[in-house]
Amino acid sequence: MTARLAVRAERAFDGERWIRDGALVLAENGRIVAVEPATAPVPSGWQVVEHPGSTLLPGLIDAHVHLSGDGESGALDRLADYRDAELDSVVETSLRAQLAAGVTTVRDLGCRRFAVLGWRNRPGLPAVVASGPPITVAGGHCANMGGGVSGTAQLRAAVEERVERGADVVKIMASGGVMTAGTDPFQPQFSLDELRLVVDQAHAAGLPVTAHAHALAAVELAVAAGVDGIEHCTCGSRDGFRLPAGLLNSLAALRIAVCPTLGGVRVPSPPPHLLEFLRGVGLLPEQERHRVARFVEGGVRLVSGSDAGIGEFKPHGVLPTSIIALAEAGAGLDAALASATAVAADVCGLGRSKGRLRAGFDADLLLVDGDPSGDLTALTRPAAVVLAGQRVSGHAGSAAQDAGVLTGSTTAHARD
Ligand SMILES: [Zn+2]
Repeated sequence: MTARLAVRAERAFDGERWIRDGALVLAENGRIVAVEPATAPVPSGWQVVEHPGSTLLPGLIDAHVHLSGDGESGALDRLADYRDAELDSVVETSLRAQLAAGVTTVRDLGCRRFAVLGWRNRPGLPAVVASGPPITVAGGHCANMGGGVSGTAQLRAAVEERVERGADVVKIMASGGVMTAGTDPFQPQFSLDELRLVVDQAHAAGLPVTAHAHALAAVELAVAAGVDGIEHCTCGSRDGFRLPAGLLNSLAALRIAVCPTLGGVRVPSPPPHLLEFLRGVGLLPEQERHRVARFVEGGVRLVSGSDAGIGEFKPHGVLPTSIIALAEAGAGLDAALASATAVAADVCGLGRSKGRLRAGFDADLLLVDGDPSGDLTALTRPAAVVLAGQRVSGHAGSAAQDAGVLTGSTTAHARD
């Protein structure tokens, strides 16, 4: 039997721009077959999904999550202790929370061992693009995920393993991180030659590479090595945030996808020593706004990803706050929305099937309550979520809505 669903809204954003006068999206067997004006008649026999005052968008895409992190305090530290069944349970719970928030595709950039690769293409759950464990130095940032290496032979073997296991992307920790004790976010973890080896070998196998980099030096090395994306891109140094004009030009000219991992939910005021640390690394909200504004001015390709799962300030489903933070940093409304739909699909390698309201694309759709063009917090109010042409169970609210949007300069949040 053919499954036919019509989704109608008086306002619609197609992944790149607004559709005047809204849209009626017709989906058959999981695919969009037509995008008509909202006033077009619904063919007889089609199930209709609509919600008064709502806005239609493609299902959101979170380009940076950690499904094996449970989004509670100490999430990353617990990874190594999970038994397989516990890990699967965490991943499934994470995916359901993402879906409830209107996120229909996620890119997992670091799981324990390769647990998340088995969660791609599960009916009724968001689509998953996955890297497996990030490649890191032995004892380095997130080494407890199982991706620690030392020496070029192990680096080569690590890329080979990801290719053999069918990973969609290679993630490498080019600098230390905030969430792993004993690593230094100000220092690179790999040399230029080592990064080049990874990038060249991955590209030869058809895999993109994205690099976690807080340190300015690590960002510069990753760009020189030819990575496709940079996560965080904090550009921190002992002298604070620095973004040399040459680096900004390279990021823009090479079309490197920068995911600044903005957003989060309110946490109780952090203790003074943590605030000082975050200030030193450059991760206070006002510092992030300043940095992202520079990327925007420089024409850098920005993609939204929340880093969901790593801690209580980053629960799964928090992506709307990343979009809001990007808009507040000056990216502009349409670019902020595109960063979590069309642009995110392109960056995740799904630009021909997801992230756009277009015939032939997957019918992953989101109705939000209200008008995001006037008030982006509408994104935190999913009214209906459609996954592969099927309306999935409604949900009263998302993580972002429950916990409040993080915008104030008095709150702080960290990054892995
Ligand atoms: Zn991360």
